[in-house]
Amino acid sequence: MYQLPPMPPERRTQRSSFSSNRSGRQSHGHGHQRPEHRDTRSGQGAHRPYRGGGGGRRFGGGGRGKSRSTFDVAMYINKNPVAIEAEAPYTPTHTFKDFGLWPEVVRAVEKAGITVPSPIQDQVIKPILEGRDVVGLAQTGTGKTAAFLLPTIHQTLENRERLTLILTPTRELAIQIEQELRKLTPHMKMFATVCVGGTNIRPQIAGLKRKNHFIIGTPGRVQDLMERGHINTRFVTTAILDEADRMLDMGFIHDMKTILKDVPKNAQTLFFSATMSPSIEGLVKDFLNDPLTISVRKKEITNAISQDVVRYEHHHKFDLLATLLGKPEFSRVIVFGAMKHSVEKLGAELVKVGIPADSIHGNKSHGQRQRALTRFKTGQIKVLVATDVAARGIHVDDVSHVINYDLPNTYEDYVHRIGRTGRGDKRGSAITFVPADLT
Ligand code: AMP
Repeated sequence: MYQLPPMPPERRTQRSSFSSNRSGRQSHGHGHQRPEHRDTRSGQGAHRPYRGGGGGRRFGGGGRGKSRSTFDVAMYINKNPVAIEAEAPYTPTHTFKDFGLWPEVVRAVEKAGITVPSPIQDQVIKPILEGRDVVGLAQTGTGKTAAFLLPTIHQTLENRERLTLILTPTRELAIQIEQELRKLTPHMKMFATVCVGGTNIRPQIAGLKRKNHFIIGTPGRVQDLMERGHINTRFVTTAILDEADRMLDMGFIHDMKTILKDVPKNAQTLFFSATMSPSIEGLVKDFLNDPLTISVRKKEITNAISQDVVRYEHHHKFDLLATLLGKPEFSRVIVFGAMKHSVEKLGAELVKVGIPADSIHGNKSHGQRQRALTRFKTGQIKVLVATDVAARGIHVDDVSHVINYDLPNTYEDYVHRIGRTGRGDKRGSAITFVPADLT
């Protein structure tokens, strides 16, 4: 454990009953706020019910009847991370040329610095090109975006009347997909409109009036645009759901069903998800046609991440964080908070004590979020304070530490959070703040 005063010594295998309520462990006493749980869209987000974490182990108890009452601090500790190199290397069975992709697509891939197909790419590109419906079980960071974009781009070059609709849980992910699409389609006259909430709808409507090969968006805004008559899913030839499990977690099931309902039966449908749950299976059964399931889930990426906890007394919580962030090895840090408001406040307080920081959460405008991300990626700030939803799908290299300033709701959320560090062959560190009275 980090040796910072004033904390009792840690006991490695301590198990304890977790009886404090949610507000009892929020920072800065914002106990009555709701956790951020979905992409806010057109001011309607607040009315959405939270539908739980897809059967995940839920941490914390108070106020939620279905919650587990056990808190196991050992789950946050791994002082002997395994070497990532120990994982058996994957030998791809294809090269990008083998797939028969258009030469300009292969050139764009090479230019993007992608030389060898990743496991998911190696396995799904061919069946997608053959027109199969596919369920790809793959986490972020596996190259899944290019895995579905490359064959779809190829198909669109073959037939420019194709329309691919890509649904993602968050704006950031939608934008990243569009950026990757642009990178992979230079000079190909491939047009896309990003339709995400929290940002002016008018340019999106203008974009939709033009010819599009791709529509990339979050379910709420896409449905909104459908209702206004700007998106007609009857013209969709490929529907892609990225991070489908996350969309379900965020309460998008109804929107997803509404969007998929009128997509023609003979359209190709691709589902990408980090996990398989009964709800995903239900959607797959309803909307996919004889799908091929391909799983490239990594064993336990958490094994490679050094994990530890710090115990805090409530009145010292912020000072502890500031002390940690002042250490030189904390060079690029994502700090997770539970609430939009507390995340905003924490970011501002860090700046006040001289730590270059910014925050991203659902109450920030799209432009503000992008700006914070860019500042973080380019090293202008060293700390990004984020909610789970806002941080989803973010790719930032060399994140030295993830700090769970507020406990995650579920173990799955914990794994998602700490997966922001230790990417690729780099080993990262995760530190979780645990209240001293949680024993
Ligand atoms: P994703 O899983 O789609 O979020 O991809 C994560 C990152 O991996 C992106 O920055 C891609 O540019 C990169 N990437 C995609 N495919 C490959 C590949 N075959 N080899 C190396 N990097 C890749």
